[in-house]
Amino acid sequence: MKREKFDVVQRKRNFTGCVVVEPRGASGGLALLWNDFVTLNVLSSDARIVDVEVTAADHPPFFLTWVYGDPLRHKRKEVWDRITSIGGQRQGYKLQYTCPLNYHLSSVADFIDRGNRTWRMDLLQLYFQPSDREAILKIPLSLFVAEDKRIWGPLPNGIFSVKSAYQMLVKMQDEKEAANASSSRVRNWDLVPDSIWKHIWAIRTLPKIKTFIWHAWNEGLATGDGLANRKVPIDPVCARCGTQRETMGHLLFECSFSRAIWFGSSLTHSPSFTSAPSLHEWLSGWDVLFRKDKGLARESLAKASFICWYIWRARNDMAHAPATSPTSNDKACWALPPVGVLKANCDAVLTKDKSRGGLGVIFRDHRGVQMKALSIPFHLSSVLQGEAAAVQSALIQALEDGHQRLQVEFDSKELLSFLLDPNRVPPSEAAIMIADVRRLVASFMSISFLCIPRDLNSIADTLARKALSIMCKIDWPLTIPWLHTLCLNEATGCTHAFDQ
Ligand SMILES: [Zn+2]
Repeated sequence: MKREKFDVVQRKRNFTGCVVVEPRGASGGLALLWNDFVTLNVLSSDARIVDVEVTAADHPPFFLTWVYGDPLRHKRKEVWDRITSIGGQRQGYKLQYTCPLNYHLSSVADFIDRGNRTWRMDLLQLYFQPSDREAILKIPLSLFVAEDKRIWGPLPNGIFSVKSAYQMLVKMQDEKEAANASSSRVRNWDLVPDSIWKHIWAIRTLPKIKTFIWHAWNEGLATGDGLANRKVPIDPVCARCGTQRETMGHLLFECSFSRAIWFGSSLTHSPSFTSAPSLHEWLSGWDVLFRKDKGLARESLAKASFICWYIWRARNDMAHAPATSPTSNDKACWALPPVGVLKANCDAVLTKDKSRGGLGVIFRDHRGVQMKALSIPFHLSSVLQGEAAAVQSALIQALEDGHQRLQVEFDSKELLSFLLDPNRVPPSEAAIMIADVRRLVASFMSISFLCIPRDLNSIADTLARKALSIMCKIDWPLTIPWLHTLCLNEATGCTHAFDQ
C-alpha cells in the first residue's frame, strides 16, 4: 500500500502517528501506526527494520525494533546481525529477544521447560547436532531445580581425572584395533574345503542341525572358550570335566563324556585321529571318506552331525539347569502388601542398541487387586537409570493418587544399595533419578524398598516391554484381559504360568 492510503487510514482511525516504508514495485512495504497513548520517536526505518524509541506515561522510555525478516534465507543472518548491532549501541539497555535465534542462554536450565520439566525441543534443535540432541534427550530431568554442574561421564563420581581420560582413549584404541582384527581374521569355515560344505548342506538331517554345525564352525556358539574370547567374564573351563578349556573341539571329541558317547554309538565310519581334533580338522577329515565311499560317508556324516547336536544339547541342559541349594525356596511368590499399604512393582527395559527404553509400574492393594498399571516410554542410557526412573515414576504417581503408605519392589540389587545407603555415590547417569527418589521418600508416611527375583517382577517387566512400542505413557485399563490374567496368576501364587 502506498503512503497516501495510510494517511487515509490514520485519519479515519484517529492514529496520532504513522511511519511508512514505501514498497518497491509490488513487494515489501511496512507501516507503523500509533495512537496518543504513546510518543514515538522513529530512529530509523527501511524495508527490513523500523527502529523506534517509545515514551509512555508512567513507564520509562524503551526501544522497539520492528523486523520484517528477509524472504531470502541466506540474508536473514544479516538482518539479525543488524538488530544485534543496533542493540549493542544502546548503553545502559539490556538486549531482550523474543526470537529464539538469539535466545539468552546462560545455564542448562534455559534449555528446560520449567512447567513441564521437559527438554525444550525448539532450542535443542536450534543449537545442537542430531547426535548431541539425542544424547541430551537421554538425560533425565530432576523434579527439583538444581545447580548446574560439570559431570565427567566415564567415572562413577562424575569428577574428571587425567588418568580416566587416558584410560578411555586407550580403551577406544583397543576396541578399534579389535574390530579391525576380527574383520581380517581367517574364519574357521574358510579352512574347511568347499566340497565338505556341499556335503553338509546335502546330508539328510534336520535344518537346525545343519545350522548348528555352521554356527559351531563359525565360532558363533557360546562355549566357554567362545565367551571368554568375547571378553565375557566367565570361567572358560569345561564344566563337565573341569580339566580343559571348553572349545568346540574339546566339547565334541575330547571330553570324557563325549568320548563315551562316540564309543557307544553305532557309528562305524568316521575320520580317525590319534589326538582330539579341532572342529575344522574333524570336518576336513570327512573329505577322505567321501572320496572312498560317497554313500556311506553321507550316511555316517548325517549320523555324526546328529551326535554332535545332542552332545551340544546335553551340554546346554547341564549349563542352564537351575542351581539347587537346600535353602532356595522353589515356591517363592509375589507377596501381598499389608492392609492399608499399596505395593508398586517397578521395572525398566532398554533395547540392546540402547535406542529405546521403557518403564513399567503396577500398583496393587492388599488383596492383590490392581489399582493402576503404567507403561512409560523413556529415553535411557543404562538399566540402573531406568530402574531408578521407574521407581521415581511410581513414587510420583502414588503421591498424585493420594497414597501415603507404599511398598516398592524392583529387581535391581544395585538400585537398592543406593537407596539404602545415602552416602553411596551412584553413577552419574542415574544420580539425578536416585536423588529424586531419596527426596520423595520424605513425602510418605511409610515407604519401603525391596529387591525381588526377576520372575516375581514379571508384570512390571511386561509393562516396561510394552512401553518400547508406544509413543506416550499409557495407563492401562484395569479390565484389559492379559493384565487381569497376569495379576490373577500372581495373586494366587502361580508366578510361572505365563511368558511374554
Ligand atoms: Zn570336558
